Amino acid sequence: MKKSHLHVWTDTFVTKLIIDSKTKEACGVEYIKGANLYKASSLASQTLNSNQLKKSSIYAKREIIVSGGQWMTPQLLQLSGIGDKDLLKKFGIPVIQDLPGVGINQQDRSEGVYVVKLKSNVDIAGIRSINCTYNATLDDPCLIDYMEHPQTALYASNDVLFAMLHSTKPKLPKLPDTVFLFLPNRFTGFRANWVNESLQYPVGAYLFVNVNLAHVDNNVGSVRIQSTNAFDTPLIQLKHFSGPNKEIDLSRTIQSIRYLRTLLLNSSFSEYIDYEELPGDQVQTDKQLSEFIYKYVWGHHACCTAKIGNTKTDPFAVLNSKAQVKGIKNLRVCDISIFPKIIGYYPLIPIITACEKIAGDIIKHAKY
Ligand SMILES: Cc1cc2nc3c(=O)[nH]c(=O)nc-3n(C[C@H](O)[C@H](O)[C@H](O)COP(=O)(O)OP(=O)(O)OC[C@H]3O[C@@H](n4cnc5c(N)ncnc54)[C@H](O)[C@@H]3O)c2cc1C
Repeated sequence: MKKSHLHVWTDTFVTKLIIDSKTKEACGVEYIKGANLYKASSLASQTLNSNQLKKSSIYAKREIIVSGGQWMTPQLLQLSGIGDKDLLKKFGIPVIQDLPGVGINQQDRSEGVYVVKLKSNVDIAGIRSINCTYNATLDDPCLIDYMEHPQTALYASNDVLFAMLHSTKPKLPKLPDTVFLFLPNRFTGFRANWVNESLQYPVGAYLFVNVNLAHVDNNVGSVRIQSTNAFDTPLIQLKHFSGPNKEIDLSRTIQSIRYLRTLLLNSSFSEYIDYEELPGDQVQTDKQLSEFIYKYVWGHHACCTAKIGNTKTDPFAVLNSKAQVKGIKNLRVCDISIFPKIIGYYPLIPIITACEKIAGDIIKHAKY
């Protein structure tokens, strides 16, 4: 059998990139072995002190590819001396490459919530009788159902029963701006403790619609380190409904909720619905709907915090078209951070496609 050249180390946390400050060449990474080191983890020890853990280093023969995702990639770059010089100086980090684009341009979809309570005799796809626990228990019947019926069980998808694309006004020239996902539970977004909160209500008794405003022009979010400790989380500012078209973005979500009301409550579908749970009957005016939307807005596709761009003309471009970090040799980024603008409706396929392209380029130019 051919020897594999891929080594995956789990429970290994990269704390810094090793870059020669004179040649500006990335040559390795510092790391610490251990589980749940990052403080974002609910399992991270509150008293964790990075000085008590053993740091190690590993060196690369060719180049380093950072794939930490939209928040930890900019954090790692900043901790390693690549980023906005004023931010780095504030934390006493020697500036290796002043790149003000690292950690800005953050974009996310603005996702809204719409929930109806279904009548007690309604059992969409037989889900009500199964009692899913979303992996919160080892004997989750929906997981067992999935093992037995991998094509048709609820977990055959990410819990989505059906989906539809929707255009609000002003209509975008090419694509619908919004996607609705219909899920069989009382879900209000991925928040801390969301599984336990959702499971307070019987699965299948509610229909949740994820009102996903996919195409936004809002790029004012940011990610900035708050300390030099790699285990500390950075300051993440998503700033929903804050971009140049914030009024239009908000209006699109209001329109979508009104549309769902018509679709579900004023159609033949209404015979299956007991009542509107969220926003609820009392929320009717634009002002009330705006307050509701702000209260519940969430997102889970944040991106674009180390964007590809024209590194000669755009001072905020972090990467060239081959995802190489401007001004640093042997260093690339390949993850959701690299996109200049939020992509499509769902990011995974575009990320994989972009990284395949980058991998193709690396292989093409590698001299074996
Ligand atoms: C709950 C949820 C559901 C989603 N559902 C969908 C969906 O249905 N369809 C879809 O297209 N997208 C979905 N997304 C979005 C999608 O998962 C992300 O956009 C995508 O995973 C981003 O890929 P990435 O490679 O950029 O980063 P990630 O997938 O976040 O990978 C980054 C990796 O780097 C590791 N890492 C970070 N820093 C360090 C460090 N210092 N040392 C060592 N390791 C480190 C992290 O542990 C992580 O494994 C979902 C996101 C969430 C949160």
